[in-house]
Amino acid sequence: RRCLNRIKKTQHLNAYISVTEDLALKQAQEAETRLLQGAPKGPLDGIPFAVKDNFCTKNIRTTCASRMLRDYTPTYNATVVQKLLDQGAVLMGKTNMDEFAMGSGSTDGAFGPVRNPWTYAAPYREQTGAAQDTDWVITGGSSGGSAAAVASLTSYLALGSDTGGSTRNPGALCGVVALKPTYGLLSRHGLIPLVNSMDVPGILTRTVNDAATVLGILQGLDIRDSTTIAAPSPVTELPEDFDVKNICVGIPKEYHAPSLSEETLAQWSHVADMFERAGARVEQVSLPHTQYSIVCYSVLCRAEVASNMARFDGLEYGHCSEVDRSTEAMYAATRHEGFNDVVRGRILSGNYFLLKQNYEHYFVKAQKVRRLIANDFMHVFRSGVDVLLTPATLTDAARYSDFTREDNRTRSAQEDVFTQPVNLAGLPAVCVPTALSRRGLPIGLQLIGPALQDKKLLSVAHWIE
Ligand code: GLN
Repeated sequence: RRCLNRIKKTQHLNAYISVTEDLALKQAQEAETRLLQGAPKGPLDGIPFAVKDNFCTKNIRTTCASRMLRDYTPTYNATVVQKLLDQGAVLMGKTNMDEFAMGSGSTDGAFGPVRNPWTYAAPYREQTGAAQDTDWVITGGSSGGSAAAVASLTSYLALGSDTGGSTRNPGALCGVVALKPTYGLLSRHGLIPLVNSMDVPGILTRTVNDAATVLGILQGLDIRDSTTIAAPSPVTELPEDFDVKNICVGIPKEYHAPSLSEETLAQWSHVADMFERAGARVEQVSLPHTQYSIVCYSVLCRAEVASNMARFDGLEYGHCSEVDRSTEAMYAATRHEGFNDVVRGRILSGNYFLLKQNYEHYFVKAQKVRRLIANDFMHVFRSGVDVLLTPATLTDAARYSDFTREDNRTRSAQEDVFTQPVNLAGLPAVCVPTALSRRGLPIGLQLIGPALQDKKLLSVAHWIE
């Protein structure tokens, strides 16, 4: 009830697209009975959680923040949602996002932008004297609603999706813990796809230990997703006495991006020094193909988007235009009315990259570059590096008015420079909040680990938390 009340009090954040109040109260009551009988289902019994609106939820509308799916109600739960429900966790609602998870701001959904809860907290107000109605800052995205839900204490955990940084970016900008697990460790069944070869369900929580608990429950093989892999070991409590003395922390030199803010750079050095003082080996390493990752991602993302979005034709799911001159005209009108310009732009360019005469030059070449980027990480980890420490975002959260300025539009792709390569390589990464900026907004750092070393990664993250 307290969480539901907070959802009402924080409606101005626009974090939720649907609030499942009746269901939540019923589930909470059932959980309470179990707890009073001393028979909880597990550590998440009765814990409120929120789900990004691109995970299918049975009998609960799932919109992807798009006019196309405004009234779409799935008949089944995504595997990760079902696993949380099976544990007795209480679904509070579906969270706001960028349309079809395309974006880095949570400013591009059909239900309006999400506001960062830190806008309304004392540090930001005192430091900037900002007017809350006009000077509010973005959450980052595309899982901004999920990050805002955890940061504003309306849920204890939230599911996001992460294709190029969409869980870690808003996690860092909203000051919560954000985990992108190894590709395949969590089932994508029921997650409406953006880029199948990169999508992973992401976990947003208040603490690293909470993220580990949720990972332990969600990971593992799913017969409904052929890309899932068996979990290497059960994730249980993280060690409290994890010793960083014998670990090697790599600092990728290519991540000194020109537009990295001084404050974030200072935080990055500060935490690297912390590791060094505690006896870890801190080494500069090189990931030479980083510079190609944004273009490589753009080509592969758009190509997969073009084929994924073909299913939205006005017949099978969602919106159907009233234009009925011909089948082609109906398709075209449905897609024009249903998708925003970001989605339409990606479909068009994706189809261009996939044209017979362009396929080799763009798509096949991008796949080769993807392999080079993944190999960079592999070489570094093989050389004895345990984790990489990097910034999560270039700066703290931008003001909405600055982020959406026309001349800034193309910058949006640059926002993901530190997170995207990780998806191209399928590796686990976690962002943890480490400081507040001078403007009173969270700064987070990212740790990246070798494939399937999610638990060790979280143990290191727990150490800096
Ligand atoms: N910002 C990237 C994009 O727009 C990544 C999005 C994501 O991770 N879902 O594609």
